[in-house]
Amino acid sequence: MFGGFDDFLMYEICFPGAITGQTEVTCPYCETLLTVSVADPMGVERFACGECTGEFEVDFGQGIIRYDRPADNS
Ligand SMILES: [Zn+2]
Repeated sequence: MFGGFDDFLMYEICFPGAITGQTEVTCPYCETLLTVSVADPMGVERFACGECTGEFEVDFGQGIIRYDRPADNS
């Protein structure tokens, strides 16, 4: 199992150069491919997944997604 993380996780994403308009990101919770609008290619945007309603943050400037550690209800 996972252990030793801080209160958020992150993973790197690769954007094909400059992003304008829209791009696709994979939901870090349910892995659904989501199309998101990009207001600022170097900024940070927060999105909510339409499938699992999980919220995550995309840092377009650094090319990473930050997301909360999934709740473990076991
Ligand atoms: Zn999701």
